Amino acid sequence: MAGRKAKQLGDWRDDAECLGEDIHLFFPERSQTQAAQAKAICARCPVRTDCLDEAILNGERFGIWGGLDQEERRREARRRRGKGI
Ligand code: SF4
Repeated sequence: MAGRKAKQLGDWRDDAECLGEDIHLFFPERSQTQAAQAKAICARCPVRTDCLDEAILNGERFGIWGGLDQEERRREARRRRGKGI
């Protein structure tokens, strides 16, 4: 999510598709509709991989980053650890 401060800032944020979008979409309480809207924005984001990498690196626990929600990121982090990525 480009609007929040992270431990490592990178230029990729300037190209984030979510710039100017409602941040609440990316931190949905229980709304699957909001989550789906956020993921649709991420799906067309040119810096999706950078966003996901940074979220995993920083251990972001909440919200949708790189098109993945918390549980999906946990699975991706486990997959990467298993492959030594
Ligand atoms: S992948 Fe999604 S959350 Fe990350 S910068 Fe792009 S639009 Fe924003």
